[in-house]
Amino acid sequence: MLGAKTLARAKINLFLSVGPRREDGYHEIRSVMQALELSDELYFRRTDGSRGRVTLRCSDGDLPAGEGNLVWRAIETFAGETGVMDEGGIEVFINKRIPVGAGLAGGSADAAAALLAMNHIWELEMSPAEIESMAARVGSDVPFCLHGGTAMVTGRGEKVQPLEPLPSFQAVVASPGEQVSTADVYRRFDTVAGESGLTGKEELERALSGLLEGVKIGDFEAVCANLHNSLESATIARDRLELYKKTALEAGAAAALMTGSGPAVFALTRTLEDAAGVAWELEKTAPITIITGFADRGAQIAD
Ligand code: ATP
Repeated sequence: MLGAKTLARAKINLFLSVGPRREDGYHEIRSVMQALELSDELYFRRTDGSRGRVTLRCSDGDLPAGEGNLVWRAIETFAGETGVMDEGGIEVFINKRIPVGAGLAGGSADAAAALLAMNHIWELEMSPAEIESMAARVGSDVPFCLHGGTAMVTGRGEKVQPLEPLPSFQAVVASPGEQVSTADVYRRFDTVAGESGLTGKEELERALSGLLEGVKIGDFEAVCANLHNSLESATIARDRLELYKKTALEAGAAAALMTGSGPAVFALTRTLEDAAGVAWELEKTAPITIITGFADRGAQIAD
């Protein structure tokens, strides 16, 4: 195979609770993640390697084009493990559509798509379990981005237990267009915020079981009533977060929450018409506003 196109789907966290920092520096999390139709497109081409082993270009010129890019790391991990590309190289063009550093796991999604593409291009037919174990080494959110759909995610984010995929509810994503470092948010969570003043332990458990019950039967109201993100307490731009959420709710969203480490917020609606109404209002304050839907899958080789 000489090339491939892949889709890399973004995620939101319908639930995210964060435990204490572990000895290895990571935090134990419990999260219900949901894949979105919002996706980057990655175009892969095999080369003779004369211009380098892995060369990247991106529609967003601010992204790292070398080893700082998670796609680069995914390709090198794959090549190191399998021995492909001992000769020759690969070129990748990333059509970036997922807002960067927003809590939507765009980088992890791209990495998951890169692992799939490598397997496809070199016709290795590796098992999903083999690809997944490489994914976990590339980054915490990468295994979920491979799976997509709806899933319970634990450990530092690398353990994925698929759940019944939710119906295609609508999500409106609002982002200030600024990047937030995930590590900084976790550091802030450790020092100033924690769970203090937020939901107590019992309430957290109630929300999680309510959400899982809602997911099981695909109940929009139950899902919306039980969203939670512990990292909201650690966000610096609290006023902006509250403004986005309030705007979305007043415009008819059933629920609104920060995704991951933020700063993007998502608002849920059942219908496209409601989503359009919410986006209409959010766009007045949020520099990036995107209407998208839930996806029942993750990274994918495009036809
Ligand atoms: P998460 O929720 O997993 O922490 P995020 O949505 O907050 O992720 P990303 O968009 O994945 O953040 O990007 C975080 C950082 O990773 C950015 O600063 C960016 O420079 C770097 N990065 C490396 N590769 C990529 C990529 N392919 N796409 C986007 N960002 C990338």
